[in-house]
Amino acid sequence: MLEIRDLFKSYENKPLLRGISFSVSKGETICLLGASGSGKSTLLRMIAGLEFPESGQILFNKIDLAQTPPHARDFGLVFQDYGLFPHLNIFDNVAFGLKMKILESNSSLFGMSRQQAVGLQRRVAEMMDLVNLQGFEKRKVTDLSGGEQQRVALARALAPSPRLLMFDEPLGALDKSLKEDLLNQLRAILHKTKIPAIYVTHDQDEAFTIADRILFLHDGEIIRDGTPDEVWTKPNSAWAARMLGMGNVIEGVVTSPNKVKTEVGIFTLNCRHKHSKGEKISLLMKQSEEGVDEIKLKVEDVLFNRDQFQVKTKNGLVIHMKDAPKIGQIIRVKVQVECLA
Ligand code: ADP
Ligand code: MG
Repeated sequence: MLEIRDLFKSYENKPLLRGISFSVSKGETICLLGASGSGKSTLLRMIAGLEFPESGQILFNKIDLAQTPPHARDFGLVFQDYGLFPHLNIFDNVAFGLKMKILESNSSLFGMSRQQAVGLQRRVAEMMDLVNLQGFEKRKVTDLSGGEQQRVALARALAPSPRLLMFDEPLGALDKSLKEDLLNQLRAILHKTKIPAIYVTHDQDEAFTIADRILFLHDGEIIRDGTPDEVWTKPNSAWAARMLGMGNVIEGVVTSPNKVKTEVGIFTLNCRHKHSKGEKISLLMKQSEEGVDEIKLKVEDVLFNRDQFQVKTKNGLVIHMKDAPKIGQIIRVKVQVECLA
């Protein structure tokens, strides 16, 4: 379906995207996860045809889209700020793109045929059902909550049956519980319609909920591409592990084939790579009862988090405990380190 080949883009001589390649297959939702400013929106704008790459290709069904204007690409876009038309009611907002498509395909100057108008009505009603907003057609945009407006934006993008859907941090402006609800609805809709989708976010929770595949965009490159399960088990870089909020990422120096020295102590390395003495590596430190190493840490702060206590230590590590320790207390924790190369 969609194939991105070796895309380059810079602004003011500063490289932003440096050789981006990936593809999206039928019915697949991929999530592009990257920090703010990493070029996620720029990449979507290029796929939409609103911006041009310096080099590289964007293909859909093996056809290069370089000469295809945005509206002829048949791609749907949903943004964080919804982008609804405030002067139109909900029906007209949802009908907008589809109406344009029908009018454009008509060679007559008399607008839509009766049959087409009926078809449009039916399609809008279908979309309102899909996003669970039956009966909202006559309402004004300004009378809707943020979550409802975003569902209207989704219905509008879906109405013309796009070949690809793109979401640019669509839930950024909504609160957490509403976000979860909408994400689950969106997931169900994407599975039902089987439209391939690219979902862009900096939020790892969103990525894990929505994605069949997660792509990490860092420093202008895709540094990891895998299923949520694969990237969680093997993030393969300190940056990805931090981005996923996986816990304590520390730096160390290899001192012998199975030992690594860090700021918080010397650990046993059980790794498939052959590291040489003196090599600097990033490590993920996991708390584990089966851990082969034990460390002593001084408690700096204690926070209650869901069903356990989150303990911050003097060295900036975060440890989870069932019972709250006292501030200043020395705690012993069993850990296991894993190399992140
Ligand atoms: P993201 O969506 O990941 O936050 P963007 O693609 O919006 O990132 O922007 C990435 C970088 O490119 C930012 O530093 C931004 O200032 C810069 N940028 C984006 N568009 C332009 C532009 N039209 N002209 C100059 N710089 C731009
Ligand atoms: Mg952006």
